[in-house]
Amino acid sequence: MPLPSGIKHVEELPVEGKRVFVRVDYNVPFEKGTKKISDDARIQATLPTLRHLIDRGARIVLGSHLGRPDGQVKPELSLEPVAARLAEILQIDIALADEPAGDGARKVVSDLRDGQIAMLENLRFSPGEEANDEAFARQLASYADIYVNDAFGTAHRAHASTAGMVKFVGEKGAGFVMAKEIDFLSRLLGDIDRPYVAVLGGSKVSDKIEVLDALLDRVNAIVIGGAMANTFLEAQGKSLGKSKVERERLPNARNFLRKASEKNVTVYLPTDVIVSTSLDDDTGSKVVSADQIPAESMALDIGPGTIETFKKVLGAARTVFWNGPMGVFEKPKFAGGTNAIARALADNKLALTVVGGGDSAAAIAQAGLADRVSHVSTGGGASLEFVQGLDLPGIAALRP
Ligand code: ADP
Ligand code: MG
Repeated sequence: MPLPSGIKHVEELPVEGKRVFVRVDYNVPFEKGTKKISDDARIQATLPTLRHLIDRGARIVLGSHLGRPDGQVKPELSLEPVAARLAEILQIDIALADEPAGDGARKVVSDLRDGQIAMLENLRFSPGEEANDEAFARQLASYADIYVNDAFGTAHRAHASTAGMVKFVGEKGAGFVMAKEIDFLSRLLGDIDRPYVAVLGGSKVSDKIEVLDALLDRVNAIVIGGAMANTFLEAQGKSLGKSKVERERLPNARNFLRKASEKNVTVYLPTDVIVSTSLDDDTGSKVVSADQIPAESMALDIGPGTIETFKKVLGAARTVFWNGPMGVFEKPKFAGGTNAIARALADNKLALTVVGGGDSAAAIAQAGLADRVSHVSTGGGASLEFVQGLDLPGIAALRP
């Protein structure tokens, strides 16, 4: 399927025998204080692109960041364990340069034979990466004949490896991960089947106020849960007890509710919640009306009445975007609302259902329903910017 605005899929690029720089997102989590990768999903996700390139005898140069070294060499943030894991998965040798750019990197790249892989060291070891410095971008570009971006999670950043270097490379395109993201997320911006319902939740209004505001111009209804809902409930004059509320965001919340009614977007907030005085497993919890949250309690999940309403709204939707869990889903006791939303998306076979956000992706995987929705985005911030209709620098750079 062709990608929007003439962006080429890696399958359309003449990669045979060429040096192909692939920007990947290998910012993987580690077991605390060790070099053991705790979840290699981001490495696994790039295998279709890598296998495609290996099979065609491309000379692959991988570039990624890991953590936040802030332009300094931090040995504990070396990509060495990542290169080792990838080598193990693919059963091939992978040469890791000892720096992101420079003589060492050039040597590793020039030693490549057809079908081999070299990895540059953590790109953010160089201050030029995040500064999108032109000299650094040119250095990276000098290692490649073709540029492929397969790192959707960093596409909202204009860095040297995601944006700056692209104009200095002859050919460019999207890898399999990036292409699928563009394909599905673009469908939320075009001619969509209605009603279009957005479900927003998670921890903070402040993280997501821009996306909330932007969605008002696109959706028919917005369903709000999670800690984010607390701020809206308080904005409506309810007492939230000891719940997480962002007091400084009350004006934003009121403003949003007013704009929503002006634009005829229906906003659904929790009418009942599950409260507890603590997150401990042995402290009791109960269902209360959103009007009657006890002073010493916290709202930690949406209640059964709210679940019924949200399920009806989602069942009637023909397009759904979901970001942010409905409660403290990490605790089974407060995961019911989030699981019910995941189930409602999975059960709606008529709708395009897209899930975005790190915790939201974890939640739908935990519910065992990740393969029952249309698309689970690997990007947190990037997917939120995309659904707002913003032009992501990493995607803009791939256009002809
Ligand atoms: P995402 O990563 O999908 O964008 P967020 O990071 O915004 O989601 O929010 C996820 C976090 O919000 C989870 O750690 C969850 O425990 C927390 N959360 C959700 N509801 C509540 C609540 N009612 N009270 C406190 N924390 C909550
Ligand atoms: Mg999160």
